[in-house]
Amino acid sequence: MKGARGAKLDWFRVFCAVLVVTIHTDPLESAFPTGNLILTRIIARIAVPFFFMVTGYFLRDALEQGCLGRTLKKLCLYTLAAMVLYLPLNLYSGDWKGLTIGAAVRDILLDGTFYHLWYFPAVIIGLLLVGGCVRLLGWKRTGIVVSLLYLIGLGGDSWYGLAVRVPGLRAFYDWLFSWMDQTRNGLFFAPMYLWLGGSLARREPDRSVCGIGLLLSGCAVFAEAMLLHQAQICRFDSMYVTLIPVSLCLFGLLSGANTGNCKPLRTFSLLVYVLHPWCIVAVRFGAKFLGLWGPLVENRVVHFLLVCVMSIIVSALATAIWTHFRPKNRQPEAIPDRAWLEIDRVALAHNAMALSDRLPQGCELMAVVKADGYGHGAVTVARTLAHTGVHAFAVATLDEGIALRRGGIRGDILILGETPPQAVKLLKQYDLIQTVVDSVHARALENTGTPIRVHLAVDTGMHRLGIPVQDVDAMERVFASSTLRVEGIFSHLCAADSREEEDLAFTRSQIDAFFHAVDALKARGVAPGKCHLQASSGILYWPGLPCGYARAGIALYGVSSSGDEPLPETLRPVLSLRARIASVRELLPGDSAGYGRDYRPETPRKIAAVTIGYADGVPRCYAQGGQVLLRGRRVPIVGRICMDQLLIDVTGIPKVWPGDTVTLIGSDGEETITAMEMARVCGTITNEILSRLHVRNR
Ligand SMILES: *Cc1c(COP(=O)(O)O)cnc(C)c1O
Repeated sequence: MKGARGAKLDWFRVFCAVLVVTIHTDPLESAFPTGNLILTRIIARIAVPFFFMVTGYFLRDALEQGCLGRTLKKLCLYTLAAMVLYLPLNLYSGDWKGLTIGAAVRDILLDGTFYHLWYFPAVIIGLLLVGGCVRLLGWKRTGIVVSLLYLIGLGGDSWYGLAVRVPGLRAFYDWLFSWMDQTRNGLFFAPMYLWLGGSLARREPDRSVCGIGLLLSGCAVFAEAMLLHQAQICRFDSMYVTLIPVSLCLFGLLSGANTGNCKPLRTFSLLVYVLHPWCIVAVRFGAKFLGLWGPLVENRVVHFLLVCVMSIIVSALATAIWTHFRPKNRQPEAIPDRAWLEIDRVALAHNAMALSDRLPQGCELMAVVKADGYGHGAVTVARTLAHTGVHAFAVATLDEGIALRRGGIRGDILILGETPPQAVKLLKQYDLIQTVVDSVHARALENTGTPIRVHLAVDTGMHRLGIPVQDVDAMERVFASSTLRVEGIFSHLCAADSREEEDLAFTRSQIDAFFHAVDALKARGVAPGKCHLQASSGILYWPGLPCGYARAGIALYGVSSSGDEPLPETLRPVLSLRARIASVRELLPGDSAGYGRDYRPETPRKIAAVTIGYADGVPRCYAQGGQVLLRGRRVPIVGRICMDQLLIDVTGIPKVWPGDTVTLIGSDGEETITAMEMARVCGTITNEILSRLHVRNR
């Protein structure tokens, strides 16, 4: 049950299954009819759309890639099992008498053979339809198709009374209802919610927008449903217009907080859905048998509670049995990774907060996630940070920016490096902000005629990129451009981590020159937009500058760049790097090991080969003085580091075995090796070590 506590979507499915029970038991009908209407015909109507949305959410990839085979096969089996389960009731009720073959086929393929079993055909048809449309038209345009279908469905459902006033539509719906019971069955209802669920799978919903949206659309659905019922317009009441925003906001809130999944819960909620009509029959039968029809059935609340408790007990038992006896070997056995990174998202979120706390009012953290998030995985990092309220990201290249957008990251994304003018269409398409690296670049971008968002780089002494800080005229010209929308201006401090007298003075001069230029622009009536100057060391050692952004890179990952200046205690390392032992062997004096026979022990030693090498990002020079952790102890690397493997000396550690975990960066027991230690041994900075990590997992 890994992640069960964070499995918000799966827990809510259970709640929805109970809502469906209310629909079929009308608990408030006798005591409070209006309340019953509100509960079962309005509130409980979120349940089935929610089921569809969860399905679409988790099947987004399969829908796009057209690989639904296994899911559909499973759904068909479920349909069949449910049909067989309810066959006794079909036979008992006698409604099979006079059933034509055509009607039987319709029931099986569209309406369901029992009153709640329309759900399975609807999911199957919906998945086929959305999957097909997505392949043909793309994800976005499929939205039009599902909307049209939904509209048709609405007209045959709660908007029926109005729809049939349109000339021709009555005949259309008469024809429709000649071959299906309700428009929620089959193809008019499910596709919309499957599509919406899938759409949310690639987004980071804004919690407050969803919260307010849920409140407003909740009121709207209430108003819509009450009006339609009062005016007796509904033919059925499964579909409302405003059910769409309600479902969207509700799902956005839950999916935003969802951090795990729990298969047994999913099985359980499905079973409650499938089994509760049987429980209704059982409760009624029991009540009749005991002569307690009045208190157990006519009292709707008691009836509902009994059905609920019984459904829950039966479903829980069935889930337990199913989970226990399920053939386990059908799932392919997990393959242990060869080498892997562990990303501590909690530490990352914590670091972002700790850094944000150091910024003055009005200054926002811009998370630098270039070079695949300093080797941590850019999309993972950006998603985690988006949850903690970071809205601005910086990358080095166009492709890095596009990768973030494709990973569903919203907010501002600034490309810090040069992008050639030929790429402006992509900048615009993915809504990326481009750095203008100098006047020549500005002109080249402008000549494309494509309007794009930019930040202007200013050279305050690093002499890498930027318009020279003295040249306010040139800056003003960029701001005056008709196609470049300048939203910010920035420079980069190149010695902010140094405590040397001379460097301190240099940094001060960079800061002064930058704000001098900004003031000069303001004096000319130019609104400079967001100003930013500090990277990690600027945030730590030059706090309080009046900027709109601060660009945090290395400090966000809880690592000091060079170790000359230790990080504040509060920042925690985010990444661990681990690999496995592949093979263990004994060496005798006179033996040598590795390329060039570099390692020549003078006493008997036990060595082990580890599944990671310089192609994974462990610098080759780390062999001289590098250590790793095994069973909480430090052991040395011996011989030369190979492309895909390295050797360690494990003499004296008992029972070392292939598969054992080796830690290159991170903690094991009491011992820790930091990225800083690896950088120091290799004579470089942590930025280089981390950004070059490129682990091949298997
Ligand atoms: C890489 C980079 C940063 C982030 O630097 P850190 O020292 O890692 O915080 C900030 N600004 C620019 C322009 C950069 O290139």
